[in-house]
Amino acid sequence: MLTKNELERYDRQIIIKGIGEKGQEKLKRAKVFIAGVGGLGCPISIYLATAGVGTIRLVDRDRVELSNLNRQVLHGNEDIGKRKGDSAVEKLKNLNQWVKVEAIAETITEDNVSQLVDGFDLIVDAMDNLPTRYLLNKAAIDKKIPLFHGAVYGFEGRAMTTIPGKTACLWCVYQGRVTQGKFPVIGVAPAVIGCLQATEVIKYIVGIGELLTNCLLIYDGLNLEFTKLAVKRDPNCQHCGHLVQ
Ligand SMILES: [Zn+2]
Repeated sequence: MLTKNELERYDRQIIIKGIGEKGQEKLKRAKVFIAGVGGLGCPISIYLATAGVGTIRLVDRDRVELSNLNRQVLHGNEDIGKRKGDSAVEKLKNLNQWVKVEAIAETITEDNVSQLVDGFDLIVDAMDNLPTRYLLNKAAIDKKIPLFHGAVYGFEGRAMTTIPGKTACLWCVYQGRVTQGKFPVIGVAPAVIGCLQATEVIKYIVGIGELLTNCLLIYDGLNLEFTKLAVKRDPNCQHCGHLVQ
């Protein structure tokens, strides 16, 4: 049930066709796991918290550095040196005191990923490296919960939604290729991609619209083009190949 204050706070989205009070209650009940509180994790958590997603878990072990501030918009000058999760929780609580936001200061590993995502309805990939994305992909497949992928590079970005056993997963698409190291980013790129991921999460929870599945969305900020590349499940995929279609 929504309180009188919640009905008022979310009024403009409750009147969207397909959301209504029922959809808002679904958002309130939802438990969203966000891996990373960096360039992508900041806008994702801001817009999920303000939309009224009831429970949000943020996982990030890093501390805020000066060089993060061009893109990680939850953190400011006074946060340098703080854990990113703690800095984020403080700001998100101020944005919406009625949602439960918690931060865990851990590095996501093969050993802890299953436990970290346990009890959550979906996983948002707001990471900056492919090896950890694969851990999240596998965890999503093991738990049979969706994964919302996003990545950025310079003025570019990409996004994809995965429903385990039904649509192409990250391994189906990337097939293990890993590039490492410092990469360029301007803050508007993760802002665009993070908002697309948050949009997908909201649609999935409420159960409206078409999801970005079996499709890799490529965003080119310099030419301002969005391209959808069709992708397919690989029946021999190392991660999801064992799940029956
Ligand atoms: Zn796969």
